[in-house]
Amino acid sequence: MINIEHLVKYYGKIRAVNDISFQIGEGEIVGFLGPNGAGKSTVMNILCGYLSCTSGKAEINGVDILENPIEAKKQIGFLPELPPLYPEMTVNEYLNFIYELKDVTLKRKEHLEEICRVTAIAHVRDRLIRNLSKGYKQRVGIAQALIGNPPVLIFDEPTVGLDPKQIVEVRNLIKSLGGRHTVILSTHILPEVQAVCDRIIIINKGVIVANEKTEEISKAVTDNSRLTVKICGSEKAVLSALKGLNGVVRAEVVGRQDADSITYIVESSAGIDLRKPLFNLMAAEHFPIIGMEAKGLNLEDVFISAVDEEEERFSKKKRKDKTREKEMGGR
Ligand code: ADP
Ligand code: MG
Repeated sequence: MINIEHLVKYYGKIRAVNDISFQIGEGEIVGFLGPNGAGKSTVMNILCGYLSCTSGKAEINGVDILENPIEAKKQIGFLPELPPLYPEMTVNEYLNFIYELKDVTLKRKEHLEEICRVTAIAHVRDRLIRNLSKGYKQRVGIAQALIGNPPVLIFDEPTVGLDPKQIVEVRNLIKSLGGRHTVILSTHILPEVQAVCDRIIIINKGVIVANEKTEEISKAVTDNSRLTVKICGSEKAVLSALKGLNGVVRAEVVGRQDADSITYIVESSAGIDLRKPLFNLMAAEHFPIIGMEAKGLNLEDVFISAVDEEEERFSKKKRKDKTREKEMGGR
């Protein structure tokens, strides 16, 4: 459905996107996750034909966006970071204007009514856009993207600036569009991608640092491989028992809330659930467990470790390049 190959974008001397490739299948909801300045908007703008790339290729349904922009753009509904709304128009006037602009052939009345129903803006159709709340403006922006029923929807930070209730509403709306549409959305909010997307592409400094099914990332997130355990007994004896337990890769003290018990972090190799053997061992050794919690990694840990790994690789490469330069220079 969407095919991006070796995309590179320079703004003058700034390299905003550095050799990005990925594919997105029909009906998938994919989240672009990354800090501000990562290059999310740049990739989306290129994909929509709004910006040209320095090199590489972007195809929608086999149609190259640079070679055949009109055909490619017909397949896309786009909600840019700042929705292109006309505040002086009513919602109705605006939707009709976009309908004409896009040269849609679907039956106008039914089509616009359906879109207003889906985005829940039917009751504000006669209001001036200027007077709508931010949440409603955003829904009008999404409605605009849906006009013409394009198979691909691209939403750049669709929940920015909304209040918590509006965020949930917009997320649910986007979720309901999956299946019938292929959706790409960008966000810098970690739980957002987890709540909405089938797959997560993490971007940092213009490169992809992770591209995984949300379940895979969530598995790491809810994994029982990291436990926080509160145990009574001598620190030395408990630690040595913990370290001797099959599957434990790390055990250390993290806190001492009261005189009687000590809190430990215990990590196992992936896939091993330590909770029962840990209970049995501590019971046998007469060290009462008075609290146990599976911490797992949180999404933030996953994100940070993906970004760190990439930066580590990058700086290693840089060091290598520098050494090579020196060597070459010395000759
Ligand atoms: P994101 O959407 O992930 O926050 P952007 O794609 O907007 O990131 O920006 C990526 C990088 O490119 C940033 O360093 C940003 O400052 C730079 N950039 C974006 N647009 C322009 C532009 N029009 N001119 C120069 N630099 C730009
Ligand atoms: Mg952006």
